[in-house]
Amino acid sequence: MIEVLNLVGGEFVGEDESFDDISPLDNEVIASVPRTKNVDSAVSKAELAIDAWSNLSISERSEWLDKIANELESHIEEVARLESIDTGKPREVALNVDAKRSVYNFRFFADFGRNMSSQTFEMEDAMNFVHRKPVGIVGLISPWNLPLYLLSWKIAPALLMGNCIIAKPSELTPLTAHLLAKITVEIGLPPGVLNIVHGYGPEVGQAIVEHPKIKAISFTGGTATGKIVAATAAPMFKKLSLELGGKNAAIVLDDADLSKAVPGVLRSSFLNSGQICLCGSRVLVQESIYDEFMSSYLKELRDFEIGPLISVQHRDKVASYIELAQQEGGEILAGGNIIDKNGAFIEPTVIGELSHLSRTATEEIFGPVVTIHKFNTDEEAIEIANCTEYGLSGSVWSENRGKELAERLDSGVIWVNTWLHRDLRTPFGGVKNSGVGREGGQWSVDFFSEFSNICVKNK
Ligand code: NAD
Repeated sequence: MIEVLNLVGGEFVGEDESFDDISPLDNEVIASVPRTKNVDSAVSKAELAIDAWSNLSISERSEWLDKIANELESHIEEVARLESIDTGKPREVALNVDAKRSVYNFRFFADFGRNMSSQTFEMEDAMNFVHRKPVGIVGLISPWNLPLYLLSWKIAPALLMGNCIIAKPSELTPLTAHLLAKITVEIGLPPGVLNIVHGYGPEVGQAIVEHPKIKAISFTGGTATGKIVAATAAPMFKKLSLELGGKNAAIVLDDADLSKAVPGVLRSSFLNSGQICLCGSRVLVQESIYDEFMSSYLKELRDFEIGPLISVQHRDKVASYIELAQQEGGEILAGGNIIDKNGAFIEPTVIGELSHLSRTATEEIFGPVVTIHKFNTDEEAIEIANCTEYGLSGSVWSENRGKELAERLDSGVIWVNTWLHRDLRTPFGGVKNSGVGREGGQWSVDFFSEFSNICVKNK
């Protein structure tokens, strides 16, 4: 049994109340978590730390990021183990996707900082200097599906640009954030620079968003929560970055190389039990190759290993969508059942014969449930792909027409003949109800900076 504590001003502190962290593998309690409701003391500690931290040079702060990366890397097996028991994902996914990419987030931004240059704009009689300052104290709120990966993706650039942080991981997956907290204390990161508080979203999450001294909010989570965060933060004129839900299309054109498309689409459907915001939960297949694609897709699905969902409650929500699909006229082509284990397991499920406008095919389910849609022309594929309120990501599988079709999708992140292939320098984020703003390289460091332009007249 692990005791998770808040990290506030370099010290580990509990709260009067705590709640249980339950593993979806077996429904066992694995940790107690403080139920924080107020972030005043974390903000006070951040205020004490901000001047010294923001006065360091970017290269000094890059060194701190490298130190965190190195120490995290030396605990990589532990990161994978904790992520695996907390989320239920197979250890190999936890190691290769979550743990390694979390280390790389720190390393990437350390390098990015070292290579940053300042901007100037010359006039005939003056020079403009674009001056960057930290935003100040920033609030970072993250979800449970890739716990440390998504939190470190925000922590690294926020630290690099000289901000102090109040971070809140999901209440369902606090373990790796707690490990990161211990690591930063071990390496002597100045107290108050990174504060991590635990608790429920509507309590401590809301307290972060409402706090007048927290000047920017970077939020990753569901669209409904994003609306609450935006409604709270906007009247306070806080900087806001929102990475929200998706209902992404994987489009297989008639000139696709099926030996790549089938395993690629399958991975995009079911990796992490479909609980990645980028998963392709709608598979669109051109009619002339439909039978060939589907017979391989369903065959290869039989060997695809998935873990449980994040919780029994979430499993039941996913199961209710499978029921809805049947009421909407869907035909279950594979899976469809809760697996009789103690944990939150459900079979990977493929549903055909649904209208692309049905609720099952347009609402985010965030589980191993995929709807399949046939189309005839590229035009039709684009219309189906763009028909939901979301616009996060997509993939196109085609030997010749992929990029051309990708340009017409209303989504922020599109892959051609690949999926989840990430270069951290590129912009990441969604359009429509999938979010506001971009993360990644320059976009992240700009979000965590304030700019002033200093125009100096020549003598
Ligand atoms: P969620 O919205 O329920 O919670 C996300 C975080 O917000 C949690 O830490 C939660 O405690 C907190 N929160 C809840 N209410 C809050 C409030 N009123 N104020 C402040 N914080 C609050 O999302 P989830 O269920 O943890 O994650 C799944 C969702 O996240 C899916 O919709 C998925 O698509 C989305 N997601 C998006 C991305 C992306 O990059 N676009 C990445 C991963 C997950």
